[in-house]
Amino acid sequence: MSTPDTPRPAYQKYPVRVAPSRIDGQGAYAEAPVPARRKIGEIRGESISVQEARIRATRTERVMIVEVSTRKAIDFSRSSDPMRYTNHSCRPNARLCIRQGRVEFYSLRDIAPGEEITVDYGETHHEGRLACRCGATGCAGWL
Ligand SMILES: [Zn+2]
Repeated sequence: MSTPDTPRPAYQKYPVRVAPSRIDGQGAYAEAPVPARRKIGEIRGESISVQEARIRATRTERVMIVEVSTRKAIDFSRSSDPMRYTNHSCRPNARLCIRQGRVEFYSLRDIAPGEEITVDYGETHHEGRLACRCGATGCAGWL
């Protein structure tokens, strides 16, 4: 859990708080207004091979791994970046962007303080077996 007085790294452009989410477990919430099409922040973690990522994904229930290329992945399990808790939504207000091995988040529209930040995970390790509880109109139902 991050506290308001924890200094945030330069790559976290807007303050984000971790709090319980109605979507799944914990979520990442905007603490300040975020205009559309801005970089919100990043998550940094342990750089591992895709091969190692797939082994780790079978060993844990809550996967915190993003594949950033065909060979490299980042494991956020031990990261303290709040955006690692960003949940999936079928109608997200942000998007995940992988750029030069970094995992970045950009707002799709204006995000109000207190709003949960969500992205479309796209292809995930769950392979359509995890129920989606985002509650959005037109929810695909599964991740
Ligand atoms: Zn959904």
